[in-house]
Amino acid sequence: MTLDTLTGWARRLQAREISSRELTELYLGRIERLDSGINSFVTVTRDEALAAADAADQRLAKGERAPLLGLPVAQKDIFCTRGVRTSCGSRMLDSFVAPYDASVVERMNAAGAVMLGKTNMDEFAMGSSNETSHYGPVRNPWDPERVPGGSSGGSAAAVAARLAPAATGTDTGGSIRQPAAFCGVTGLKPTYGRVSRYGMIAFASSLDQGGPMAASAEDCALMLNAMAGFDPRDSTSLQRPDEDFTAGLDRDLKGLRIGLPREYFGDGLHPEVRRAVQDALAVLRERGAEPVEISLPNSGLSVPAYYVVAPAECSSNLARYDGVRYGHRCSDPRDLMDLYTRSRAEGFGAEVKRRIMIGTYVLSAGYYDAYYLKAQKVRRLIAEDFRRAFGEVDVIAGPTSPELPFRLGEKSADPVSMYLSDIYTIAANLAGLPGLSMPAGTVGSLPVGLQLIGNYFDEARLLNVAHQFQQETGWHQRMPAAFA
Ligand code: GLN
Repeated sequence: MTLDTLTGWARRLQAREISSRELTELYLGRIERLDSGINSFVTVTRDEALAAADAADQRLAKGERAPLLGLPVAQKDIFCTRGVRTSCGSRMLDSFVAPYDASVVERMNAAGAVMLGKTNMDEFAMGSSNETSHYGPVRNPWDPERVPGGSSGGSAAAVAARLAPAATGTDTGGSIRQPAAFCGVTGLKPTYGRVSRYGMIAFASSLDQGGPMAASAEDCALMLNAMAGFDPRDSTSLQRPDEDFTAGLDRDLKGLRIGLPREYFGDGLHPEVRRAVQDALAVLRERGAEPVEISLPNSGLSVPAYYVVAPAECSSNLARYDGVRYGHRCSDPRDLMDLYTRSRAEGFGAEVKRRIMIGTYVLSAGYYDAYYLKAQKVRRLIAEDFRRAFGEVDVIAGPTSPELPFRLGEKSADPVSMYLSDIYTIAANLAGLPGLSMPAGTVGSLPVGLQLIGNYFDEARLLNVAHQFQQETGWHQRMPAAFA
């Protein structure tokens, strides 16, 4: 059977050309055969998936319609799933079985989705390469010696290898967009507050946002319809009228003003990545879009500001893992302090510990003003840059990452070079703006991503631009030969 997209499968399920059970078995079979080479799943929920598929088939037989009815998907292992291990890529939560579903999972299940399993990720979503996972690194399906990006690298690799037609991701500083770029898939980080964070394990709460990853923009729109929406259980959830993100995909791009930030095309951008991005922009121009050179003058401050704000929030959020309530507990503690310190020392990996230490430091009484408060002010300047830019342009475009997927181990010893791989993605999180990455070309066999950043609530426009691009080019349809 030829592999289809999420949207294609939805059509075939509705037409009863295939049953949800057959479709689910097809993907479970692919995971069993092919995942050992890339390690994109931490947990495969075969029995639950087949039961959900049978339930979906009964609903389909009754003529019911729901946006994801009968469609297999994978969930990043950061989303709580009732009765299923939710590890967040950490030894700390290796034996944690969530007692409830995250809102995203609940919404997708209600929309009829069939969960195939939980995908691998950087520990507590901290990383850009998926090498910090307790379950071992994920490998890039385009070249197993290279990283898939992170932290949603398991989801990106699973979609790229077609082990799932779509998956969820989360993006705190680029973790949907950068792995999407590295693996040649489409991923969308929505406006902060669009998608509920309830039951999504917290890393840096003012930046974290869940979103869809799939082959195409059209598929991401279908997923987002199910994922997005107001949730009273998340105090930062946005109260917005319901929107159908698939509705505007076919609008043409005539007169669309695309801002090209000077700072996103400067030194440090790999020359071949630059060439691929410029070729992609030419396609958008041919479809009627008008490029406008713009400046985001505080771009250079986004990585340093992020590496104060994100660790600060992480140090606070991760204080809950104390060995008492849930998660890893050391054996034979001498006293309470020993229980805390040894449980945390054993449960967390090196990168997580580094962030907790930095975060505790920047929040301490003596340094709060110098670091944390300063970073919050810089954050405001970055948001202002975008506010000004969106007075002139409709969307902003540029590379998703300055480089190609790098080799496993290449940056492990140098955290700062790893942090710089998010140099073009982090600003959107600091400002709360939506951002999308889509496959825009290749260098050798390796994918290159084009990033689109939109104004607040403008996800539909990002998806529209990406869909128009995907009508013209076939980059999003390519798949790695080893997984064909
Ligand atoms: N790579 C960034 C970090 O390590 C972003 C991670 C993310 O978006 N979750 O913090």
